[in-house]
This record gives sequence, structure tokens and C-alpha cells, in this order.
Amino acid sequence: MKGFGMLALNKAGWIEKEKPICGALDAIVHPTVLAPCSSDTHVLHGGSGEKENLILGHEAVGKVVEVDSLVNKFKVGDTVVVPCVTPNWLAEGVQGEYNAHDEGFMGSFKFLNSKDGTFADYFHVNHADANLVLLPEGVSPEAAVMTVDMMSTGFHGVENANVEFGDTVVVIGIGPVGLMAVAGAKLKGAGRIIAVGTRPNCIAVAKEYGATDIISYKDGDIVQQIMELTKGGADSVIIAGGNQDSFRQAIEMTKAGGYISNVNFFDIQEVLSMPALSWGLGMANKTIRGGFCPGGALRIQKMLDVVKYGRVDTTKLITHRFNGIEKIEDAFYLMDEKPKDLIKPVIFID
Ligand code: NAP
Ligand code: ZN
Repeated sequence: MKGFGMLALNKAGWIEKEKPICGALDAIVHPTVLAPCSSDTHVLHGGSGEKENLILGHEAVGKVVEVDSLVNKFKVGDTVVVPCVTPNWLAEGVQGEYNAHDEGFMGSFKFLNSKDGTFADYFHVNHADANLVLLPEGVSPEAAVMTVDMMSTGFHGVENANVEFGDTVVVIGIGPVGLMAVAGAKLKGAGRIIAVGTRPNCIAVAKEYGATDIISYKDGDIVQQIMELTKGGADSVIIAGGNQDSFRQAIEMTKAGGYISNVNFFDIQEVLSMPALSWGLGMANKTIRGGFCPGGALRIQKMLDVVKYGRVDTTKLITHRFNGIEKIEDAFYLMDEKPKDLIKPVIFID
């Protein structure tokens, strides 16, 4: 089979591989809708270390082509939504509050991490019964593919920000992840939602999802802008974009007792630091959390219900649509280059 991925550091291209083998409890899926993620491009550029001959991609809806005899809930031909995080549900690490770290840090992120991703004729899914979800009636495949990472991650940013009714929430970065954090903060009852970004499409969707104020990091120090707007800081700040300085800025613009929640992927070579005063000399009761996308069937079923029952329209994120597996390449480079009119591309495959 063929797949699109990382030939070597900074070098993407098509790769020929053997079709993956379906192990006990597992399934093999042929993708019908795919989306590239900023994290695929981070990995290509060495954000998680050197890798080679690795098929990229981790956001997919597809058709089951093979299932192990122990799989009960799925059969060949089913259309399934595939979480980007597919824990080994027998591992100790998923038995606590977070399921993204089954056998160590980010261990449940199998695609890209411990095996090939979804940008291929076929890909492998471990623990199919506990990780796959049937595409629900009333949810389009393109709406569904936006839940498996973008919504689960953006909403996790909101969960870790402890948003309460009437809170003032800042979302730094309004690419697709930050936009889902805006939508999630509104659902959780935030009062004021201040979004930081500049791309006009993203700004328009941020307002539709519930942003009450937009500020640009190109118009000067965002800490100063937020302090002036809020007259004292935000209850919580969600970091969903930016650079290593965003970490310090987020802490500075959070009120004493507030929450800083990061879902941004900082590169392996970055150093996060802050002056002690930003953290109230260590005594301001500010909580700092960084989290990875929760996965598995139950989580994604819940995300799909948010779509199915009309709470959030995830298709507002989709700005570019491609047809045919060979178009993965165009969609991927678009994600890498981030033209001004891009939020998220999707690829439809027969
Ligand atoms: P994206 O489309 O690149 O959006 C990034 C956002 O950050 C844009 O709104 C951009 O503004 C803004 N930004 C850029 N420089 C900034 C600065 N100096 N200060 C403040 N804002 C700035 O990214 P995405 O696809 O939404 O992904 C966001 C991050 O989440 C990525 O790092 C991705 O790898 C990561 N991620 C994490 C997880 C997880 O589980 N934790 C899962 C998926 C993705 P403009 O409007 O000017 O472009
Ligand atoms: Zn991702």
C-alpha cells in the first residue's frame, strides 16, 4: 500500500509499505475522510525528535476492512470515527483521570508515535471495541473528523482551565484548536471570551463560536492589551498557539487564583521560562496545566453528541476540501504553509 509521510527530517513524500497486520482485538481501516493537523507538520520538522519512513496523519473517518475475531461491536464495511488517541485500555496509565498516557508520556498517541499514521490506503487501530465509534446518524463524516482531535483537544484546554459561569477567558491562538476552545468555553458558561489571533477567517469563526473580543499579537504586547481590557487579568487563559513566550504571557495575564491551560505543542528544543514575579513570586495560587487530547470511544462519542445535538457546528473549521488520496499531499503542504485563508483542509477518499 502507499502512504504519505515523513521520509526524513523536513522531507515529506509518498512511502510504499506492507498493509498493516490486524492483531488481537484490533481493526484495519481504510480512510474515507482525512485531515492534516499542525502536529503532523511539527513532527515533520523535528518537533518531537528525528524520525524517518513514518506515515503521518491521525485524524480520520473510515471504513472497517478487517477485524479480529475478538472484536464484538464492529464488522467489515462499518463507517467509523477514529479517535486520534487510541489507548491500550489494559495499561495502568489509563486507569486514572487521563487516558492519553497509557504506557508513559503520550503513550496512547499511537499514530506518529509508535506506528504509522492514517495518511495511507489502510491503517491499524488497536483495541477496536474501546477505541472506535460508529459514525452517528445525523453527523456528516467531515463534521465527525473535526471531533477526533480538534474538538477533543480544544475542549480539553477548556476542561483544564476550570471555566466557570461568567468567567473571563483568554484563548491565545485561534487556529482550529483555539477555535474549539472558544466554542467549548462558551458552552461551559464563560462570560467574556477574548481571542488572540489575526487570520480574518479565524476571527470570523471565533466570533461565531462566542468570542466577545479579538486582539492581535501584532498590535503590541498582548499582556498589556489584556490587562487594559480586563482591568486586572483573566480568570483563565488557554494557550492554543503562539510561541514559547506565550507561556509567560499567559501566566502574567491570569489573575491570582486563576488557571493557565496549555494545549499547544512546544517543540522539543524550546525552553519555557518565566520571571518569578509573573507567577506571583510563586505565591499567587495560579494553577498551570498542560494536557494532551483525550481519546477512546467514550470521549469521542461525547464529542460527537455535541455535534449531533446542535451545540457546535464543527464544519465551520473546514475551509478547503480535496478529493482523492493523492491530494493528501496538497492538503498537507497547505497545513504546513498556513496561507491566510486556511483554517482546516479535509480530503475525501473513495
Ligand atoms: P494554527 O492553525 O497554527 O493556529 C495557531 C494560532 O496561534 C493562530 O491563531 C496564530 O495567529 C496564533 N499565533 C501565532 N503566533 C502567535 C503569537 N506570537 N502570539 C499569539 N498567538 C499567536 O494551529 P492549530 O492547528 O490550531 O494548533 C494549535 C497547536 O495545538 C499546535 O501547536 C498543535 O500542534 C497543537 N495541538 C495540540 C494537541 C494536544 O493534544 N495538546 C492536539 C492537536 C494540536 P494567526 O491568526 O496570526 O495565524
Ligand atoms: Zn493533532
